[in-house]
Amino acid sequence: MSFSEFNFSPRIAAGIDALGYEQPTPIQEKAIPPVLAGRDVMGLAQTGTGKTAAFALPILQRLERGPRRKPRALIVAPTRELAEQIHQSFVALGAKTGLRSVAIYGGVGVTPQTDALRRGVEIVVACPGRLLDHVGQGNVDLSGIEVLVLDEADRMFDMGFLPDVRRIVRATPADRQTLLFSATMPDDIKKLAGEVLKNPLTVQIGQPAPAETVSHALYPVAQHLKTTLLKALLPTLGEGSVLVFTKTKHRAKRVAEQLAKDGFRATSLQGNLSQNKRQAALDGFRAGDHQIMVATDIAARGIDVLRISHVINYDMPDTPEAYTHRIGRTGRAERTGEAYTMVTSEDEADVRAVERVLGQRIERRTLPGFDYAMPKANADEFARGPRPPRPQPKQRPMEPVAQGAPRGGAQSHGQGERRPASPPPPRPRTQPQGRAPQPAGSTASRAR
Ligand code: AMP
Repeated sequence: MSFSEFNFSPRIAAGIDALGYEQPTPIQEKAIPPVLAGRDVMGLAQTGTGKTAAFALPILQRLERGPRRKPRALIVAPTRELAEQIHQSFVALGAKTGLRSVAIYGGVGVTPQTDALRRGVEIVVACPGRLLDHVGQGNVDLSGIEVLVLDEADRMFDMGFLPDVRRIVRATPADRQTLLFSATMPDDIKKLAGEVLKNPLTVQIGQPAPAETVSHALYPVAQHLKTTLLKALLPTLGEGSVLVFTKTKHRAKRVAEQLAKDGFRATSLQGNLSQNKRQAALDGFRAGDHQIMVATDIAARGIDVLRISHVINYDMPDTPEAYTHRIGRTGRAERTGEAYTMVTSEDEADVRAVERVLGQRIERRTLPGFDYAMPKANADEFARGPRPPRPQPKQRPMEPVAQGAPRGGAQSHGQGERRPASPPPPRPRTQPQGRAPQPAGSTASRAR
């Protein structure tokens, strides 16, 4: 089928053309007609399926008519990266519509967001905490919201945002259109859906891209050889972008540093980075300046880089769902990708759980010529001299950490990441700086 069948206005069709979309993805085929018709929709789909355009296009079409410069569509998302990406999608797809979008999230200055809201926008893409701050200060009025989108609802639940989400829903008119997207349907999300959706149509994209466009392989290896094996594997992978997942922030940082030291174009993305550094790392990865990004699950949530050819699990994810989320970053939009997972003997049960979900046994591979018997003393993890003592406690926080209120302090508002229960290592003061051409989601971007 083709996009022309949806009868989008010429201005929106121009946006679709500009992005090079030739035909709708399955979720777009299924979701666009009911959303255009004004129905509530529950979308069971993950990032990587094209779900953003599935709601952005019909919303733009609706907003082209009616009042301007007041918030009429609100998209709530769990992380600032996702909010920023959704905002950018609206800007790109709506480039010819004259509609304006603003991204609202914590970790950056409030004033540019307030200014943008004051100047007038039709579309607000926001993380819950910071949005509520603006609502509380009277900077944004949600009483004119016609369409509300709750994106990655399961992740918002995981991160403890549901009370905030309910507060936001209550601030919008009862007769709004509501769309709820979630990769999974835990009971709490079913309950939320029952509360916020009216006679919804459920649109499901069954286990998407991974099974079809991604091939999987396991690399059994001793824990102490993982970095050495990674360094030996990377040169065999070609030119595409590589996303490496580690279990902890500390490990993400250290692995990226070790790779960079050996001349790999590697960077890391983890929750301890200031907003500026996160954005710089993401931009560098997207632009191809960094071929390799080492990230934790939460930091990498929603990363949208089309050219990711390989996802490498440096550490086995804890659940099959986490595995699916991670490898959903490759093989996107019908491209092919490969997912490699380094496993130790302790990971066997988790591997079996993933194999059950995939419905297939994953191939075990060894890298020819690699010395799997290398003693600890020669491996990368231990190749350096003894480290100087650290001021931090030995037990470094893992992420995600214990359940807790996500809005415990000024830093946590709408940042989309839970803070560790124990004090994190000192972080550089974030002094948000504008990025050209668009300050990081902090100003309204006029859809050109
Ligand atoms: P999403 O699931 O919304 O994060 O989208 C995943 C990726 O697919 C993004 O890079 C989109 O730009 C891209 N995409 C979305 N729809 C289409 C389409 N119809 N054709 C090609 N690429 C698409």
